[in-house]
Amino acid sequence: MNEFTRNYLCKHMGINEAVIDYVSYSEDEIKPHFSELDTIREFNQFKVIEAMQFNRLSSTDFYWTTGYGYGDVGREKIESIFARVFRGESALVRPAIASGTHALNLTLSGILRPGDQLLYATGKPYDTLLKVIGTKGSMGGSLIDYGVSYKEVPLKNNLMDIEAILDSIEDSTKIVAFQRSTGYSDRRAFTVSELEEAISAVKNRFPEKIVMVDNCYGEFLEEREPLEIGADIIAGSLIKNPGGGLALSGGYVVGGEDLVDLVANRLTAPGLGKDTGLTFGTNRTTMQGLFLAPHITMEAVKGALLMGKVYKNLGFKIVPELDDIRSDIIQGIELQTEERVSEFCKGIQAASTVDSYVIPEAWDMPGYADKVIMAAGGFIEGSSIELSADGPMREPYYAYFQGGLTYDHCKLGVLKSLNNLYVKGLITL
Ligand SMILES: *Cc1c(COP(=O)(O)O)cnc(C)c1O
Repeated sequence: MNEFTRNYLCKHMGINEAVIDYVSYSEDEIKPHFSELDTIREFNQFKVIEAMQFNRLSSTDFYWTTGYGYGDVGREKIESIFARVFRGESALVRPAIASGTHALNLTLSGILRPGDQLLYATGKPYDTLLKVIGTKGSMGGSLIDYGVSYKEVPLKNNLMDIEAILDSIEDSTKIVAFQRSTGYSDRRAFTVSELEEAISAVKNRFPEKIVMVDNCYGEFLEEREPLEIGADIIAGSLIKNPGGGLALSGGYVVGGEDLVDLVANRLTAPGLGKDTGLTFGTNRTTMQGLFLAPHITMEAVKGALLMGKVYKNLGFKIVPELDDIRSDIIQGIELQTEERVSEFCKGIQAASTVDSYVIPEAWDMPGYADKVIMAAGGFIEGSSIELSADGPMREPYYAYFQGGLTYDHCKLGVLKSLNNLYVKGLITL
């Protein structure tokens, strides 16, 4: 960082000089890691462009239809492009899928029938899924409500316990589900190779079981995606990695054609499936976002590395560790106290483009088990590929940092959050 920038940050953005020095020093140490990330980014960029070219994406695909949405050529192409990028036969990519949770709920409830069992192979799933499944509170319409049974296999030392997974599979098990990303836990994301080992073991012994991967936050972190290593169906959110910060809303499901058709029947209606549903003029931004996604995802990962390095240097436990292969964009930091989590998130909020003046407070978010504090001030509401952070108010008080559409913005997030902790006397430099 040159003198010009340093002075600017001190004078106009209220960052203490000691904080700037500390972050600059950490940055020098992580720069050598960037070239590996650039290699992955380059591959994924070419993969996305090839899928657009292969499907002859054209300017007329950005027009949109009305009513039932029959013959929305653009919508159909977007789905073919997603299918090609993620190496599935078929895809469902819709702005009307409200979130990642919705995409996962559609997938599970589209495939599972009364009497079937859902087995989670990666321990307790992401918070919002507890209500989808029905293990936390009795939400009307949960899977359990519809007669689906549920079991999960705990992790062993934060790794998948393949033997226990195999032992847990029963005749009634229909879906074996894996969560790639950390979620609100203290484990790192599972790499595609680790998923490959576990999924191969399941498929070798039980070829008829359906393997689902919750791919939220994992897209474009590696060269391979879960369908390439044996998963049958994946789901995720467009306001995370694959929307590239531009998608206005939406979710995706990619997998085998028969399975995606079942999911589409749940989204619309049996008999309508994928053939209906408006895109409301979102096709252009969905495609432009997918085009930018490999680049933006890596900007976020570089930001996560910087964040991780700074707090590691300060002596905090971080997940993932600096040398871990990253398979999601999240950097978890065990901040140990509620106050630190809160001040950290306030610093991230203050670094935002939109609503930078707002002060976040912990609240009972729908779908979450504990109070959660969320710092989010993006162009797209709730978009967590944009600079954001959150922390459930429970021990051991982790803050989860993710996103940043540009590395520079991530760096500002690091500076602002550290500055906040520093001036409040919650850390010493
Ligand atoms: C974000 C996330 C979800 C849910 O996505 P929403 O879009 O917030 O509903 C599910 N699983 C994982 C692992 C996630 O990171």
